[in-house]
Amino acid sequence: MQQHIENDDKYLGLTVNSGVVQPPSVNPYFKPRRRAPLPTAGELVEGILKGDITLLSRAVTLVESVQPAHRALASEVIEKCLPYSGNSRRIGITGVPGAGKSTSIDVFGLHVLKDGGKLAVLAIDPSSERTRGSILGDKTRMEKLSMHPDAFIRPSPSAGSLGGVARKTRETIILCEAAGFNNIFVETVGVGQSETAVHSMVDFFLLIQLAGTGDELQGIKRGIMEMADGIVINKADGDNVGPAQLAQAQFRSALHLFPPTESGWMPEVLTYSGYYELGIPEVWEMIDRYFHFVKSNGYFELKRNRQSRYWMYETINERLRSDFYDNPEVAALLDVNERAVMTNTMTSFAAAQSALDLYFSQRGR
Ligand code: GDP
Repeated sequence: MQQHIENDDKYLGLTVNSGVVQPPSVNPYFKPRRRAPLPTAGELVEGILKGDITLLSRAVTLVESVQPAHRALASEVIEKCLPYSGNSRRIGITGVPGAGKSTSIDVFGLHVLKDGGKLAVLAIDPSSERTRGSILGDKTRMEKLSMHPDAFIRPSPSAGSLGGVARKTRETIILCEAAGFNNIFVETVGVGQSETAVHSMVDFFLLIQLAGTGDELQGIKRGIMEMADGIVINKADGDNVGPAQLAQAQFRSALHLFPPTESGWMPEVLTYSGYYELGIPEVWEMIDRYFHFVKSNGYFELKRNRQSRYWMYETINERLRSDFYDNPEVAALLDVNERAVMTNTMTSFAAAQSALDLYFSQRGR
């Protein structure tokens, strides 16, 4: 025991007790949580077809995983779910941050679910790549919908290129459809390339706009306008009703300047208020009209078939890309070549060629 001078006789009435042995800093009773074993493809498919949300979520997690074993399992599940997919309305929803996407999806979603059926809300958010956090698809943003038993809300997959993120969302659509979700919303921020990715996987593309910013038409990239099957001007409430109607008229006349759409459908422009829930049925009637129109003229099928073809090539491109860039020797050489290019000691073409040569020589070609 350690000697304490305070225990000396001259300090009467004062004793220092010996301490107790300190417990170890690691809890000896701690048992690492065992991860539940991976379900088999058969179990996942069976669960998904029964509409089991837990197994659906697990399958989506596998789709999003970067581990090769998970990817292989995910592919098998998707393959088996494919025959049961397709029976849904896939609706893309875009708008700049603050346009009211989450508020609107909440009320649109409840409106759609009034007729029964199930709704999955997915997202493509390329910014989550950088921030490691998704600004879309967050459950707390859609308060009412997230409480609804027939709604499944899934944030954007976060890892990888836009192409990779989009592919995962596309595959998730297949799984959700197989699980009986007959309404699929795919949300994206209307500020970049992601609209094109969403456009390539949905039947109807809804663009949410705002009025009263003074630069209604200038601010929008022509490409997005051309993709839209419907433009809806949100926040048409209070003092904003007049400006919203003005914007509506401007959008309508701007749309006339575009060439006719391939489907023959004339995109419509409506005003509504997501927050005050005004004009919601009208937005949905427009979407119903669209589906009726393209299903009767055959464009619905044609578009879906083209999208399948597009995704075949996208999947190939994505796999080739990741195989190339994930190759450690190629990555090391690219590092060296990049510096050489930046210091003008090598041309871009020679640098690219040497990396490609290395890659193909490794593959025995
Ligand atoms: P997001 O970034 O596109 O998802 O937009 P949010 O749904 O988060 O909405 C951005 C802001 O606009 C929030 O403060 C909402 O309350 C508000 N907002 C959304 N819809 C409406 C609307 O119809 N009218 C009004 N006045 N405000 C709205």
